[in-house]
Amino acid sequence: MSSASMFLEGLRLEPVHGSGDASGRLALGGKAARWEDAPSKSALEPATAQLLERLSALQDVFHADGRYALLIVFQGRDAAGKDGVIRTVCGAFNPTGVQVSAFGPPTALELRHDFLWRVHEVVPPRGVIGVFNRSHYEDVLAVRVRGLAPEDVWRARYDQINAFEQMLAENRVIIRKCFLHVSRDEQREQLQERLDDPTKNWKFRLDDLEDRARWDAYTEAYREALQRCSTEWAPWYVVPSDRKSVRNYLVARMLVETLESLPLTYPKMDDAVREAARDFK
Ligand code: ADP
Repeated sequence: MSSASMFLEGLRLEPVHGSGDASGRLALGGKAARWEDAPSKSALEPATAQLLERLSALQDVFHADGRYALLIVFQGRDAAGKDGVIRTVCGAFNPTGVQVSAFGPPTALELRHDFLWRVHEVVPPRGVIGVFNRSHYEDVLAVRVRGLAPEDVWRARYDQINAFEQMLAENRVIIRKCFLHVSRDEQREQLQERLDDPTKNWKFRLDDLEDRARWDAYTEAYREALQRCSTEWAPWYVVPSDRKSVRNYLVARMLVETLESLPLTYPKMDDAVREAARDFK
């Protein structure tokens, strides 16, 4: 399949306009969780499969090149599909070059450090792709909505996050952040499935219901985080995630385009090595 059919026309994520932009309030309603007129699953899946093959080839040269790290952040409400997109899209990568980190409630030790301490420790080294299942953004989302820290503490964090991410970017960490956006109805269906399906019961947590009850407060917290922390060096993308096939396609395409934008090359063999290996057959 040519890249023309791998890149379906018009089906492409655009970064959130950051603050300072006059684009107004970011739309995070039910409509934004769907992509109107998206192709059918039967059209999307083969295109996604091609993107995943391309991603795998790009990771090979990315790893060999070794000059950049890639950090992919996944945020989303409960049951938005963070695990699913990591399994499907990041599953295209050779696991040797990938590092997945999940962020749950901080431990007692982590709480005694600054909030970025546990995050910085697992930022991928160059040549490696780091995948975050939740992230330092919980410190302006869960912490804000559940009132786990005073407002002046979490408010100061937007600038702190931007400065941290800028420092990483200046050190050749390429950062891409995806908000998996599901509608309230879709979340209800997913949570219901967790209740009904014995193989999914283990995923159901009462905390998820508490967070669902705070739907609007989370929407506001996401809106502010995405608008204040979508920067040139670390953009946020709102990924319409009510349909898994659309979500997977969009994330895979954005990652292919990100890696393709880098001047990646396979290192040339050293002349001395080639000379020493001259008689090898
Ligand atoms: P998941 O729900 O992603 O499968 P876990 O149940 O292990 O994973 O943990 C996620 C929970 O941890 C979420 O409710 C999230 O809000 C919470 N959490 C993550 N980071 C923080 C943080 N810095 N402060 C408070 N809560 C956090």
